[in-house]
Amino acid sequence: MSHTGRIIGIPGLEIERVDHNKGIEVWAKPTRRPLCQHCQGDGLKIKATHHRTIKHTRLGNQVMTLHLRVPKYHCQNCRRYFRHPFIGIRPRYRASEAYRLEVFEAHDGGVTQRKLSRTHNISAATVERWYRYHVGRKRSEMTHRPCPRVVRH
Ligand SMILES: [Zn+2]
Repeated sequence: MSHTGRIIGIPGLEIERVDHNKGIEVWAKPTRRPLCQHCQGDGLKIKATHHRTIKHTRLGNQVMTLHLRVPKYHCQNCRRYFRHPFIGIRPRYRASEAYRLEVFEAHDGGVTQRKLSRTHNISAATVERWYRYHVGRKRSEMTHRPCPRVVRH
């Protein structure tokens, strides 16, 4: 992994550009094509490429924003489609798992919603939503054990 790749902490990303003008903006794309999510075949063709903008982490006092290229693959074997899966970033979310966890832990540790909305560039309602999400998940982990666990890196 490249130096910037290590800072980002998300494996499988190739950094294309870093811009420090307003916060830290990183443009990246997947380093390689995965196997098919449906049949594990390797005959994937890129059908289209979408873009996603994700809040990822804070470095010093700046928020790092990722601009990801997201290929949509077409499997030549099973003929199905899927979008490139990124480790630590859920489909459709606007922030990485690491970012959401960071906000949860800060709020859990007593940092106010108002302060977090300023430092992390999100609304107070979002802080509240992420907080409840993580509290709910912890609770279900405790009541439904053993359960399949999300693999964390
Ligand atoms: Zn397939």
